[in-house]
Amino acid sequence: MNYRALAERLLPGNYPSLSTYEELYPPRSLAKGAEVTRLAPSPTGFIHLGNLFAAIANERIAHRSGGILYLRIEDTDLKRKVEGAVEAVIKALDYFDIRFDEGAEIGGDETYGPWYQRQRAEIYRAFVKHLIEEGRAYPCFCTAEQLDAMREEQTARKEVPGYYGKYARCRNLTEEEIYANLDAGKPYVIRLRSMGDPEVKHKFHDEIKGDITVPENDQDIVILKSDGIPTYHFAHAIDDHFMRTTLVIRGEEWLSSLPIHIELFETLGFERPRYGHNCSLMKQEGETRRKLSKRKDPELSLEYYRKEGYFPRAVKVYMLTLLNSNFEEWYLKNPEAPLDDFKFTAAKMSKSGTLFDLDKLNDISKNELAKLSVADMVAFLKAWADEFGTPEQLKYFEDEQKLSRALALCMGIGGKKRRKDLTTASQAMNFIKFFFEQPTAFEEFRVSAADRGCIMADFLGSYCYEDDAQTWFSKLKEIASRNGFAAEMKDYKADPGAYKGSVADVAEILRIATTGKANTPDLWTIMQILGEEEVRARISALLNV
Ligand code: GLU
Repeated sequence: MNYRALAERLLPGNYPSLSTYEELYPPRSLAKGAEVTRLAPSPTGFIHLGNLFAAIANERIAHRSGGILYLRIEDTDLKRKVEGAVEAVIKALDYFDIRFDEGAEIGGDETYGPWYQRQRAEIYRAFVKHLIEEGRAYPCFCTAEQLDAMREEQTARKEVPGYYGKYARCRNLTEEEIYANLDAGKPYVIRLRSMGDPEVKHKFHDEIKGDITVPENDQDIVILKSDGIPTYHFAHAIDDHFMRTTLVIRGEEWLSSLPIHIELFETLGFERPRYGHNCSLMKQEGETRRKLSKRKDPELSLEYYRKEGYFPRAVKVYMLTLLNSNFEEWYLKNPEAPLDDFKFTAAKMSKSGTLFDLDKLNDISKNELAKLSVADMVAFLKAWADEFGTPEQLKYFEDEQKLSRALALCMGIGGKKRRKDLTTASQAMNFIKFFFEQPTAFEEFRVSAADRGCIMADFLGSYCYEDDAQTWFSKLKEIASRNGFAAEMKDYKADPGAYKGSVADVAEILRIATTGKANTPDLWTIMQILGEEEVRARISALLNV
């Protein structure tokens, strides 16, 4: 067969010689040991925890080694493309401090761009043409119906699905048959002529999983689709080579494609990057563990963390805890250190499924938020509210002094120990809501309406904003005594039958009346922050119902 003529017929015209591309995209001049890593998402608009997991690993490995992290957009499949997806990826990762050195919408060293695969069609075609010339790729005219029938047959026979061996019908078409098909205008794709035998297995060193066994590939995969755009497999091999990638950390769902990728790199004559396949994130459900699912688990999407207002460092701390087995111990010793000081390594990454536990993340979040200063907390909440807050919530920031006092109280600043009530920005904004909005819902009062009324009226009669905490509390005790409640807890405990309740119940009535909640930080301070008028207004409002 005259492969040269066939290549010219299939991809006519002059393509630059392959060595031109080697010159265009020369090896990077980086220090020895510097790793070039990448994130290569499809622009589907959905970016998830698994992506963040891989992104943190790639980012750490690149930057710790003085290398490069770049963003490549694998947009060969137009059907999956969503407007604004690239910006969404960048924004989602930026939240967690993942910064790219170059890539789509990032810029950087233009030498290795463009970073959208659709803009690189010529390079791919040049290499496809070369493979056809070498007899390592061929046109396939199989129709969708034929391929469906093939798959059905393979399923029925319990055979490996795909285009290989006797199923690779177009692999051995004669020259006449090929030209007849082309002359008849039949649509075609270009397939790789695989040389592998899956019975033959090779040892492969995975940077995370260690030594594994990988069979050879025998699938004649499509490398160029009928629209002249390559498939992901083919494009990624070309790109990882010419973008001079040295290490790929990606999800283990790509492990099954590894034989294909190995063969592609060999066929193209490229040195391949090292690979590390990180384990999937699992969720405990009763007795069983399952992969986090897009449909069932909103926490899989990175958008969830921004919307809820998770503190980025907390998420990163948790991710690092899951990613590197020695991180937790390091963090205990270095709780204040920049996370980038941790010596991250691929070798310490978990080899099998990792359990993702939202409760654990929430605990870490509480701890991390409890470390913030009030000013940092205000800044964090403001950034969240600017994007996700309600108009009412945005008003909280108009009186920064009040907001700071409210937050200081809720964070336990100035108290004996910091409180850990706040988990996320949205939860914190809800937590402080009663300072800024009159409560409309009230937790249940334990005392009868009649006694409540008496106590509230009594309180309003003796309330003086200038009273210090002690005086204020003495007055509460007097109110207790006057209304048949024990002023001292110990008296109540000694003889509960003798009282309607204790001073604690009196405080609770006032607490629920002013905040809506039975559990809050110190009530005297809350009243100080609310101001006399507001306290009176809130309690009076309940008196009149
Ligand atoms: N485009 C693939 C994805 O969507 C990238 C796989 C790889 O990292 O090689 O995840």
